[in-house]
Amino acid sequence: MILYRAHLLWSNSLTELRDIEDGALLVDEAGRILASGLFEEVAAQCPRAEIQDLRPHWILPGLIDLHVHLPQYESVAMDGLELLPWLKTHIFPAEARFADASLAKAAAQRFFGDLLSLGTTMAVVYSTIHQGATDAAFIEAERCGIRAAIGKVMMDQNAPDVLSEHTETSLQQSGELIQQWHGKDAGRLLYALAPRFAPMCTPALMRGVGSLSEKTGAYIQTHLAENLDEIAWVGKLFPECANYTDVYRQHGMLNHRTLLGHGIHLDASERAMIRAAGATIVHCPSSNAFLESGVMPLRRWMEEGISVGLGTDVAGGPTLSMWNEMAMACTVSKIRSTLLKETRATVKPTEAFHLATRAAALSLGLSDRIGSLDNGMDADFVVVDPRRVDPAERNEDAADRVLSRLIYRADPRMVKATFVRGKQCFAQGS
Ligand SMILES: [Zn+2]
Repeated sequence: MILYRAHLLWSNSLTELRDIEDGALLVDEAGRILASGLFEEVAAQCPRAEIQDLRPHWILPGLIDLHVHLPQYESVAMDGLELLPWLKTHIFPAEARFADASLAKAAAQRFFGDLLSLGTTMAVVYSTIHQGATDAAFIEAERCGIRAAIGKVMMDQNAPDVLSEHTETSLQQSGELIQQWHGKDAGRLLYALAPRFAPMCTPALMRGVGSLSEKTGAYIQTHLAENLDEIAWVGKLFPECANYTDVYRQHGMLNHRTLLGHGIHLDASERAMIRAAGATIVHCPSSNAFLESGVMPLRRWMEEGISVGLGTDVAGGPTLSMWNEMAMACTVSKIRSTLLKETRATVKPTEAFHLATRAAALSLGLSDRIGSLDNGMDADFVVVDPRRVDPAERNEDAADRVLSRLIYRADPRMVKATFVRGKQCFAQGS
């Protein structure tokens, strides 16, 4: 039993931030938070616990990245193209190299190591079409201790030859990977089926994905309404569907375990379908700016009751930092509001923090395990030093101001350590 003493900070809702200045987390051998609260009270509950005094650092829940591409990490910051030509020029050649499983293993080590060093404890990850590379990603996630939902990309039409699959093979390999990995290590590793996006998936593949998700409880991750050329292409390929979202709905891919990357250009009927299914839109503001895809109306989607989370979408987004992504969510909301003279409130750092923690956990159906520092949660947390991002080097200040500096002025050196289920997976300087 270990008792971590620090300033605790987490989010209960979009409007409710919890912080405890002299706080403590009591973590048991299984990596669960037995008690969180005032240091004096928690310490009294377990006088024999080993005390680790982390003051003046703060403890926050680990950050959750709901949309990121492992094999694209080394292709970040390739500027100058929109989505479809960017995929063809930079991304598909990079993904084709993952036919080599040893290259995939080395890439996975760097990728998960960097996520942990930035305070991300859970990521929903696309691999490539390769079963070996996807297996290598799971093996590395299992080894390094991060929590992850990973899926082999599925593409059985309109993809480059080297990345094209037969429908049956694609479904069969995904099914094997689900058997092997979904729920492993008491649910730390999960499977997220990854049909890339409608233009590169046949109706048979999408229907197969829907039924695999239904049968096994695996998540579905895909892309939706990111770019106007992409949307026009979907319209031509699926004339029998009312719109892009309807393609997924008609083929059984829209359920409460579905994570839809982007969702920028959606009409009211599409938003109603997403809401009715209980699916989640993953907002990727850095990527959307980088690939000139558009600015998602985040506040409006939230007001309409759609489940929303955040994703870095590397390599559409240039970094794996969820701090950066939270800052971008706030910044693009301000730019949108100013340019369009909107009257809606802009998105605040406390709200972006909620999306990157508690809301993400809710969207994954894991809110009883991750996303907060409440009693009974798994001990997935990040230890930060707010003095690193404060020109005045204050130890203490109002929680919302500290959070705002951590987000807008994020610096990798502020992350001191990252824990997943009580196990330290990253420590600065080690
Ligand atoms: Zn993506």
